[in-house]
Amino acid sequence: MAVPKKKTSPSRRNMRRSHHALKAVGPHECPNCGERKLPHHVCKSCGHYDGREVVKVEAAG
Ligand SMILES: [Zn+2]
Repeated sequence: MAVPKKKTSPSRRNMRRSHHALKAVGPHECPNCGERKLPHHVCKSCGHYDGREVVKVEAAG
């Protein structure tokens, strides 16, 4: 089994982990109605996804 030759120093370890932070996914505007929606999700207010209506919304139609 491959074994590291040298112990990773706290500095090296922390430099490696400097890329591990997660970023919050911000809401994006729906291209159909302009409402704020999460990316890769069907719009809650108009039911559109990828340029077509996939879910019927009672209030809109
Ligand atoms: Zn929409």
